[in-house]
Amino acid sequence: MSTTTTTTTGQPAILPEGYEITNIVAVDENFNPDPTSEQDVVDKLKAKFKDFKIEVFLPNIELFEKLAEGQDPKVMLITCIDSRCNPTMLFGLEAGEAFVVRNVANFVHPYEGQHVAHENAAVGAAIELAVTVMDIKHIVVVGHSNCRGIKALMTRDDFTTDLVGNWVKVGLPAKEKVKQLYPELSFDEQLSLCQKEAVNVSLKNLLTYPYVKERVKGGGLHIHGMHYNLRHGRLTSWDIVRK
Ligand SMILES: [Zn+2]
Repeated sequence: MSTTTTTTTGQPAILPEGYEITNIVAVDENFNPDPTSEQDVVDKLKAKFKDFKIEVFLPNIELFEKLAEGQDPKVMLITCIDSRCNPTMLFGLEAGEAFVVRNVANFVHPYEGQHVAHENAAVGAAIELAVTVMDIKHIVVVGHSNCRGIKALMTRDDFTTDLVGNWVKVGLPAKEKVKQLYPELSFDEQLSLCQKEAVNVSLKNLLTYPYVKERVKGGGLHIHGMHYNLRHGRLTSWDIVRK
């Protein structure tokens, strides 16, 4: 096994008592998988990275050298963590093309001030960086069918018992709107509508960020919604504009 400890500092790792780092492996074009390993999924990631290095990175070395110097993405995508809603696959994203934030049910929570370590801090920091530093021109929130997060939103009454509930409850306005306007529809139809309305909740919350609101108003930033139907391979796209 090509194990090395040269990448460590030699100092104790920042880990809980009783844990240690092991199996440090440099994965490049010369990587040879350990035939005795039983970590099938992680081994596949390493093997895929080796393929990437050989088939993509090395033949495009000038591009990757340029990207190493900086990035200039024009779009930010906010998508669900769902393994079937893979933005790189859906939109053919190349390195340097898009900022991507993924979370349960692709939610943006309202802005609560820059000094508040609120529950949306990770998403908020990404939005702030994308808009104020990277000068992103488009933000797209992408919802999808069969979303577990939206199903939790639609089926639960109590959102206080776990982190998922606490996270998705921001979509309650979407749930309430669908339940009020379409009580005659089947649950699956309501679910589908809620997936799209939840995207609009996130777009509305995006506009609570002062720099987002200001740039959208000035025409320098555009916000969009999308919904991916993963059973039929159908994408619905819409834009939000000022009336
Ligand atoms: Zn989802």
